[in-house]
Formats: sequence, structure tokens, C-alpha cells
Amino acid sequence: MYRLTLSAALKPFLAPSALVASLALPVAGVAAQERPTAEAMEAVRDADLALATVGFRLATANAPLCDRQEPGLGIQLHTLDQFDAGAREAARAHFGFAAPIAIEGVVAGSPAEQAGLRRDDSLLRVGAVDLAAIAGKPGTTDRLVAAQLAIAALPPSAPVEVAYLRGGVAGSATVTPLPACKSRFELLLGTAYPASADGTMVQIGARFLEEYPADQFAAVVAHEFSHNILHHRDRLEARGVTWGLLAGLGGNVKYFRQTELQADLLSVYLLANAGYPPRASVAFWKKFGPSKAGGFLRSRSHPHWADRVATIDAEIARIDSNPTRPLVPAALAERAQPLSGDWQSLIVRRK
Ligand SMILES: [Zn+2]
Repeated sequence: MYRLTLSAALKPFLAPSALVASLALPVAGVAAQERPTAEAMEAVRDADLALATVGFRLATANAPLCDRQEPGLGIQLHTLDQFDAGAREAARAHFGFAAPIAIEGVVAGSPAEQAGLRRDDSLLRVGAVDLAAIAGKPGTTDRLVAAQLAIAALPPSAPVEVAYLRGGVAGSATVTPLPACKSRFELLLGTAYPASADGTMVQIGARFLEEYPADQFAAVVAHEFSHNILHHRDRLEARGVTWGLLAGLGGNVKYFRQTELQADLLSVYLLANAGYPPRASVAFWKKFGPSKAGGFLRSRSHPHWADRVATIDAEIARIDSNPTRPLVPAALAERAQPLSGDWQSLIVRRK
């Protein structure tokens, strides 16, 4: 648990993505241009690295399940641009930015750590990617996203030369990546509970990290990650579905329900392959479901949380009886097909 409430203390000095802006409520009583404390900046770092660590573990352990891969290096980047104007100098001083892009954190045990890269190394080049040539816009995550996408486009397992500045001194390291499923991960600060996947990125609200045990947080990430591995966004668009308030109406419903159940089913394989207890997803739903997804909060586009628990439970029983790792579910082969809308054959009803 973090000493600070991320959602309340940290939102004001980071540039929100468009999605955050639409989801996060204004935080009362915190001046927008308030200079962030070192403690607050370290709390953001810890939270970003916690998500990066879960993402790295899921993405590398499940690489054999993914038809789109990237090099898994184990570095979490951040940029000066991300900070609001009033916080940028404090961030530059605190993190020691000597270039616009730096390492916010290194995943423990990752190829980057093994190669000697460290937090607060300012990055100049990663393989063929000249980071200095990537343009940014103050107050946005444009430069961060462009850098992440460029690095993700490198070959998934070829060694990369990383050039950096550490304490003003130039250095370099050769990192031999692990192949990883291709996806970005972004932690959203704010008071809501966003969790989404747009095909290339998984976005998760910081409150999941603050309020749920680590394994259950991984289960939320695994569900969203499953949508990307199954190419759900593209396949839903191919069916012409409507998002937002209309998602629960008419012909949209069957496709959303099918993708939700498919993501629930795949998520327990992702967890098991990465060494997380698959039952963490059941525990998550039993806490989250009644308070956040029941009653009037219930979305018609999603199956009832208790049916999702029953469905997940039945799949875990199959995983438990099969010691093979990585486990590759047969349903994965369907991702090249159009969505059928058949969710009834996937669901196991609650007793
Ligand atoms: Zn979902």
C-alpha cells in the first residue's frame, strides 16, 4: 500500500491522456500548479513500476501465445514532457533528467537489470532508435508513446545497444531482450476504476493497485491484456459495434459478451503461465463485483459478475489438472476468425 493516495495527491502534476481527462474527476483542494514533493514523485514511480513489472511478467511468460511480439527489455520510461509546466523543473531536478527521455524504473530480474541499466539513466539511443530525434509536446505523453512504439518495433530477441547518460557521464550497455507480447501498459491516476484495452495498450486505474492485493491487480491486467492478444478491438470494429452508452443495446451485446468471456477465459491461462495464482481473478470479482458491477452499476454489455466467476472457476479446474507451462488454450486459434457472437456456449451460470 502506498503512503499517499495516488488518485488524490498525484493527478495534478501529470499530463493526463485524453482518456484520463474523460474519466478522472477533478480533485478538490489541490492546486493545479502545486510543486510536487519528492515523496509524491517517488510514489508515482513505484506505482508505474508495479504495473510495468506485472506487464513484463505477463508479456514475456506468454510470448508463445502471441502473434505480435516486441523486445521485452524491462525498462519503464518517462519524459519531462509528461509533467505539467509548474512541476517540470521539480521533476528535472528530482529525477536528474539529462535528456528528454529517461528510465523511470527497471523491472527486477529483467534483461535491462542484468545489463546494468539503472533508474534515472537518461537515454540517448536504444538499438536503431535515436531517442533525441523523437519530437514531443510539453504537457503531453506524445514523446513517451512515440519512444515506446519505436522500441517495440525492434526485433523481439536481437540484442540491443543502449546509450545513456548517468550522472553526466556517457555509457552503454548491451541488452538481450526476452520476446514479449506486444502491448503498452499505462497507469491512470484518478478517482475512478478505469480498465481498458484498445488493441495496442492496456490502461489500468491506480486505484486497482492501491485497493487490491498484487495477485488480484495482475488478474485485472491479465483480463485487459487478453483483449489485445485476441485482437478484440479490431474484431469488434469489423462487426461494426458501437462503444459507450450504446454498447449494451441491440446487436452489440452478443459481441461484447463473447469478447468479455473470451478475455476472462484467456486471462487465467496468462496468470498461470506467468506464475500468478489463477484464482486471484475469482477473488478479485468477488470483491469488485458486488460493489462496482452489481445492481444499477451493472452493464448490459458485460455478463453478470457472478456468472463470470463461475465461468472462470470451471476453466481453472482444467488448468489445475494440466501441469504443462506455457499452457496454450485451443480457443486462441479462433482469433483469426470474425467474432461469432456466440457467448452462450462459453458461459457457466452461477449456482
Ligand atoms: Zn473486458
